[in-house]
Amino acid sequence: MATRVLSSPKLLKNLRSFIKPLNSAASSSVAVVSPLNFDHKPDLSGVEKQHPTTTTTPLDFDDHQKLFASVSTLKLLRSSANLGLASNETFVDFGMWVMNSRLVETPLLRDAILKTVKQTFFEHFCADETPAEAAECLREIQEAGLRGMLVYAVEHTSDNAGCDRNLEGFLQSVEFAKSLPPSSVSSVVAKITAICPLGLLRRISDLLRWQYKDPSFSLPWKLNTLPIFTDSSALYHTLLKPDPLTPQEESNLHLAHQRLLQLCQKCAHYDVPLIIDAEDTSIQPAIDYFTYSSAIMYNKHDPIIYGTIQAYLKDARERLFNAAKTAESLGIPMGFKLVRGAYMSSETKLASSLGFDSPVHNGIQHTHACFNDCASFMLDKVADGYGGLVLATHNLESGQLAASKARDVGIQKGNKKLEFAQLYGMSEALSYGLRNAGFQVSKYLPYGPVDMVMPYLLRRAEENRGLLSSSSLDRLLMGKELKRRLKRLQFAKSGMTAPASGMKIETGAP
Ligand SMILES: Cc1cc2nc3c(=O)[nH]c(=O)nc-3n(C[C@H](O)[C@H](O)[C@H](O)COP(=O)(O)OP(=O)(O)OC[C@H]3O[C@@H](n4cnc5c(N)ncnc54)[C@H](O)[C@@H]3O)c2cc1C
Repeated sequence: MATRVLSSPKLLKNLRSFIKPLNSAASSSVAVVSPLNFDHKPDLSGVEKQHPTTTTTPLDFDDHQKLFASVSTLKLLRSSANLGLASNETFVDFGMWVMNSRLVETPLLRDAILKTVKQTFFEHFCADETPAEAAECLREIQEAGLRGMLVYAVEHTSDNAGCDRNLEGFLQSVEFAKSLPPSSVSSVVAKITAICPLGLLRRISDLLRWQYKDPSFSLPWKLNTLPIFTDSSALYHTLLKPDPLTPQEESNLHLAHQRLLQLCQKCAHYDVPLIIDAEDTSIQPAIDYFTYSSAIMYNKHDPIIYGTIQAYLKDARERLFNAAKTAESLGIPMGFKLVRGAYMSSETKLASSLGFDSPVHNGIQHTHACFNDCASFMLDKVADGYGGLVLATHNLESGQLAASKARDVGIQKGNKKLEFAQLYGMSEALSYGLRNAGFQVSKYLPYGPVDMVMPYLLRRAEENRGLLSSSSLDRLLMGKELKRRLKRLQFAKSGMTAPASGMKIETGAP
């Protein structure tokens, strides 16, 4: 018999204690961080009325049995143990120190370290090493009613030969996605740093920045694009007028464009959306330039190419608005993935070393408000039939606000233009809660050799460290569900009947 555990006041209190520190000022801060004078300012009234954790939210996190119904006990145990490890600051600090030390250069030690990483963090946060091995993971995800965003996890390449190899990996990823049922893969993800040498991306970003400062500065190689900067964008990376591209650089740029176009062509041909990740602000102008110029060529009826906006940046709201508005006026259905951003410490460190303010919002509440504003703006667009939106977040309140708003503006649950997404191995509760409420949900699923995925894993380690990290709610709910299953097992062994539906069988916080 099903043992539905009714939401005890204690569980609700626990949930709120996780939500509050992250979001306590979300509704009020919307006003604080909306100094921009947009022509069509996103209408947030609907969002603010739908304050989370009220009865109006379509998401239900109280019933952990229902949330984790599709997850095996073994998987729950492993996930819980791995997230517990990731939240242990001493363990993570030590692991990061080892990974950044010269110890990894000693072959024997390196093998031992990679093996340990493979059996813990890699297994938890990644699909596996090859597409064929990732298939098993995708099957599990599909059985759980979710889809996968397939990510061949290469990044930061310095030469053309490496970029060519990476392109092959991405093309293989699209072929693989096409070979699977459409209900299992929602998109393929790529990083521009894997197909264009990093030094060239810096040069192009410099040149684009300079042209923004001085519109008479000519860039003969420049293709049509959407707006990349606003007056609040960080321009301090380029303090001196850059030299024009050399013939060799122009030729490398041409090669990089050809790589991206080959990838876009395949995605368009197979109707598999391509999502371009955002990286750090020193190279993001070039990434946006590549993304928008290819979207102009390939986004015909529906968005095939999606860019990414990082809401932790002070110029994010205005940039999204300008790009979406221009694309709409040109009749280009643009897709955006919205994230908070994963390079906060390096952004702040670089800006301060150059004597400038960080490009990241001064407080987390501003980031939350910016994310929710951007989400609200794009949800209105999707409701009007324009563009596509991938809401990539682990934040419960942002998930709830967006789910409520999607319902209020009448976006149908099966609408392919709206997708929620979480990283594989993170925020299972939010993924399952959104799925149970009928939304389309994807897991961002990186695959590749362990040493290649290491930069991604280090960012996840950083994100999950500490007791109040993104994974804290998952750990709480998984712990409760594991306790419930253990109790059931004990009842079964002792020959007693399991408690009736609605009876409280919890024994307190894990
Ligand atoms: C599907 C998917 C795709 C992603 N793709 C990208 C990508 O392309 N590029 C990218 O950069 N990231 C990407 N990310 C990572 C994402 O940016 C991080 O997971 C993000 O930090 C977590 O934010 P959240 O929305 O889950 O919110 P929360 O769980 O609420 O996270 C909040 C975090 O934001 C940080 N933060 C942001 N602004 C501030 C501030 N002003 N002050 C203090 N702390 C702040 C803090 O570290 C805090 O831990 C992706 C994530 C997902 C789920």
